[in-house]
Amino acid sequence: EAKSSGRGHVKFFNNTMRKKLKTHADIENDLQHGIEHNEFELYYQPIFTIQEAQVIGFEALVRWHHPTKGFVAPNDFIPVAEDTGQIINLDLHLLDLAAQQISHWYQHGLPFTRVTVNVSSRHFASLDFVAQMHALYKKYQLPLGSLCLEITESGLIGNLELATKIIKGLAPLEVKLCLDDFGTGYSALGYLHQLPIHILKIDKSFIDHITKSHNPLIDAILSLAQSLQLDVVAEGIETEQQLAILKQTPCKFGQGFLKARPMPAKDAKNVILHGL
Ligand code: C2E
Ligand code: MG
Ligand code: MG
Ligand code: MG
Repeated sequence: EAKSSGRGHVKFFNNTMRKKLKTHADIENDLQHGIEHNEFELYYQPIFTIQEAQVIGFEALVRWHHPTKGFVAPNDFIPVAEDTGQIINLDLHLLDLAAQQISHWYQHGLPFTRVTVNVSSRHFASLDFVAQMHALYKKYQLPLGSLCLEITESGLIGNLELATKIIKGLAPLEVKLCLDDFGTGYSALGYLHQLPIHILKIDKSFIDHITKSHNPLIDAILSLAQSLQLDVVAEGIETEQQLAILKQTPCKFGQGFLKARPMPAKDAKNVILHGL
């Protein structure tokens, strides 16, 4: 607001703005420290088949155990890390944690499970990304297909050509690509068929408004996905009614508090072994 009021009309920061700036700077300082001191933990939220509630994998979601602030939610620091550029280091650290977890489960004889990791557009669209992923697979001897990456639309359509090149570079690792929060971003459908992605995740805001008889947007997304041969995951299923309605659609996969919240790795292990 100070900026938009123009030259000669610069307003002083009010207390809220000052506090926000301070928080921003605090977080920036603390992030690096946090990576070095292992303050980040991945929680795992099951992704399951809509019809049978069979678990097919997990979405990894970061939790920050801050030494003085306690628990800090991702929405409070991921955007800051994106602003400062620290997201690349943070993403790499979290990808490493996820890979470590997969290889741990695998070595302990657990059945194959896919882990989906959120990657910021800014990191995904960096030239080193493909090499970093190949190095990760090598470091942890990951089984092919064990990682899936979630990216939002903005990251992909900003530079279609680069994104396509990156996705192709990941193909030998059988890394799956999932378009996160689908329907909330550009939703310029024209580009979708050009992207070699595998999965669409319908944003929770659509699932919130699902009704018994009239879901034109969800129906449209599902038929689009079907014609492009993409799998679909419905995000944020909170009620039995939402699940019941989804069961009447061709949507194959779901995720949400109704069946399971994000959980620590040791609980996810039980889900892998015994189901939901
Ligand atoms: P997202 O990728 O869309 O993740 C889904 C968010 O919805 C998660 O919030 C999850 O806990 C929440 N959620 C899942 N099911 C339900 C439900 O039934 N009801 C409700 N109300 N919420 C549900 P979370 O963990 O707070 O993460 C928020 C966002 O932060 C994520 O949105 C993602 O954009 C970002 N994020 C989280 N972890 C990471 C990470 O490791 N790396 C990066 N780059 N971003 C991350
Ligand atoms: Mg996600
Ligand atoms: Mg999402
Ligand atoms: Mg979302």
